[in-house]
Amino acid sequence: MADKTIFQKIIDREIPASIEYEDEACLAFRDIAAQAPTHLLVIPKTPIIRIGEAEDSDAAVLGHLLLVARKMGNKFGPKGFRLVINNGPDGGEAVPHLHIHVLAGRKLEWPPG
Ligand code: 5GP
Repeated sequence: MADKTIFQKIIDREIPASIEYEDEACLAFRDIAAQAPTHLLVIPKTPIIRIGEAEDSDAAVLGHLLLVARKMGNKFGPKGFRLVINNGPDGGEAVPHLHIHVLAGRKLEWPPG
């Protein structure tokens, strides 16, 4: 079996994380290297490796993740927030477990690098 990702270890409570939201399908926790005053990662509990490998059958969980990201964005970024999904090496993906970044709490620049 492939080694567990760091995010699977967070789901399994093998390593600590600052969890802001949890339900039966997902977890939202603070990024360890925050790029904004609020920087959360919203992840599915059943792993999808990356958005580029999601299946049509993942539609419900993908929709759910987006709605939870919306909830976190509205809570922590009333003046605005940004959702980001990095995909693959050129997309800046470091952890092969789908995650939506929720960035809020400062004026965000555009475009990103
Ligand atoms: P990616 O580059 O794959 O889109 O994002 C991975 C994110 O996971 C990075 O922003 C990184 O700071 C975060 N990260 C990596 N390891 C850990 C960890 O052990 N705990 C937490 N909370 N975040 C992590």
